[in-house]
Amino acid sequence: MSVLEKKTSQGAIALEEKYGAHNYHPLPVVLSRGEGVFVWDVEGKKYYDFLSAYSAVNQGHCHPKIVGALVGQAQTLTLTSRAFYNDMLGKYEKYVTETFGYDKLLPMNTGAEAVETALKICRKWAYEKKGIHDNEAQIIVCNNNFHGRTTSIVSFSSDPVARKHFGPFTPGFLKIDYDNLEALETVLEHNKNVAGFLVEPIQGEAGVYVPSEGYLKKAKALCERYNVLFIADEVQTGIARTGRLLATCGNCNCADKHCSGTPEVKADILILGKALSGGAYPVSAVLANDDIMEVIKPGNHGSTFGGNPIAAAVGMAALEVVKEEGLAQNAFELGEIFREELNKYIAGCNIVNAVRGRGLLNAILINDTEESSTAWDICMTLKENGLLAKPTHGNIIRFAPPLVIDKEQLLDCVSIIIKTLKQFDQ
Ligand SMILES: *Cc1c(COP(=O)(O)O)cnc(C)c1O
Repeated sequence: MSVLEKKTSQGAIALEEKYGAHNYHPLPVVLSRGEGVFVWDVEGKKYYDFLSAYSAVNQGHCHPKIVGALVGQAQTLTLTSRAFYNDMLGKYEKYVTETFGYDKLLPMNTGAEAVETALKICRKWAYEKKGIHDNEAQIIVCNNNFHGRTTSIVSFSSDPVARKHFGPFTPGFLKIDYDNLEALETVLEHNKNVAGFLVEPIQGEAGVYVPSEGYLKKAKALCERYNVLFIADEVQTGIARTGRLLATCGNCNCADKHCSGTPEVKADILILGKALSGGAYPVSAVLANDDIMEVIKPGNHGSTFGGNPIAAAVGMAALEVVKEEGLAQNAFELGEIFREELNKYIAGCNIVNAVRGRGLLNAILINDTEESSTAWDICMTLKENGLLAKPTHGNIIRFAPPLVIDKEQLLDCVSIIIKTLKQFDQ
């Protein structure tokens, strides 16, 4: 047997290297099984998963209720297309809109598709409701945003690696600094053609950048003043990750029972993905009220797989798990403990400058240059020590375990992280 066929990590990596496009640079670990907060590699080594597939697996790996819904629906009806009705989509739409407090949902599959959908809805609303002249609508976005990988989305990315040689780019976007209300107000004041403001409540990929207290609320108020749609991309921050069902948590019906912290704002357009399926299936959605969603008419937009019966069954199960298991509350409480414990260590060390985040979406800032390999080397040692995490933007390491983690497991992880950091601390 050649190395390519051997059932080892080395063999699996060699296969991807030879036959797969090189559009990722993974940590050299090959996973073959997952359960709850744990994953196992092909050699049988067990790890805590501190990435959760970029917060898609908030409900834990292979959650039995979600897998049950997936398997049951897969044996019954998988795909009808939207040329016909299916008996699951309406139930799912009712459940999700009631959960988040919106009139209507438009179903898609991936996060990037949902962002594209939101941009299309926003533009159409601008021409048909706000009265902006055709082809002149502008949408405000933030520097260092991450909204996905399609041509239009990379058109307003500020990451040169994501953009270079993918032009010509889609026009119609205005970029401002994140967490800067004056910048937002200036653009709104000087531009009559602004249709929307697309924003992440916390910038995840940029390195878990949490905006100042009150930023989202004030940004929403500015948008209202200028009749501009506030579009929240909660693909990563949503579904209990930050200690509430949504990081923007406005009037969503979770507020009293499952959420902690003060309600912030209610977006005009809400974008969900990732953990909307608990990682079992690609499911994304755009939510809005009737006055906005009604601009979309038959033929304007669609997706062959969007709103399929499996996605509907999985999406409902995934949200039920979040509610039944109190994952928002758990993320809130364990997040506080995580930052408190790490801060105790950081106070007396050289290797980490800070820990930041909300709920169980956190990151540490490594005391080294952005070009250095220190964060990567730390992640390699974390892997040896039984915990998987990945650097985001050079010297920042994101820590985002499944939200089903318990306190004992979290403290075990804190000691693995501190033990590892000590190996790098001089
Ligand atoms: C992951 C992510 C997306 C894109 O989702 P895909 O499913 O990878 O297309 C969009 N927005 C944010 C904030 C994300 O974190």
